[in-house]
Amino acid sequence: MKGTLFIVSGPSGAGKGTLVSKLVQDLDGLSVSVSATTRKPRPGERDGIEYHFMSDVQFDALVEENGFLEWAQVHGQRYGTLADDVTRVLASGRDVILEIDVQGGLQVKERYPDSVLVFIEPPSLDVLRQRLQGRGTESGEALERRLETARVELTYKERYNAVIINDSLAAAAAELTNLIVRHRSERGEA
Ligand code: 5GP
Repeated sequence: MKGTLFIVSGPSGAGKGTLVSKLVQDLDGLSVSVSATTRKPRPGERDGIEYHFMSDVQFDALVEENGFLEWAQVHGQRYGTLADDVTRVLASGRDVILEIDVQGGLQVKERYPDSVLVFIEPPSLDVLRQRLQGRGTESGEALERRLETARVELTYKERYNAVIINDSLAAAAAELTNLIVRHRSERGEA
């Protein structure tokens, strides 16, 4: 395995997705892994781009054949990282970013201790609620469920290698970029 695995986790609404898209535009040699999920696509989401959308039966089959590097149940749906995709890209020398939940992050760290766990923290739970409401993808019970999950997720941050507070997108993106550049230079490729 030549590349490094960077794992980005944090509550839904913390801004992980936006940060990761920016990072991939700004840095060369970095790929984002497309996860599989049993969740239904949101309007505008495309199969194979945001996620590989799957039925429960398809997901079960992949679990059965050890096709996942990790998988976890999040907000009542299953999400998993496809092992073959990730190992192929790492072997080619590129770094890989996984935007996954905290349970998955710790599973990957156990399997690949050299991977780097980065926790993206919202400035506060109030800001998180406002962001989720503004995004409008969840409301009522689903939104409350995400906030409850966020409280649990925040308790995992001590087990991460780095914590970045996403107050301003530009500042958080710069911090994340620096972290990756620093790792690369420690690895001797600056
Ligand atoms: P969403 O449904 O909002 O796209 O994602 C919900 C949560 O699932 C997010 O916290 C996201 O990081 C997590 N997630 C997405 N893909 C994976 C994956 O492959 N594995 C795990 N463990 N979590 C994932």
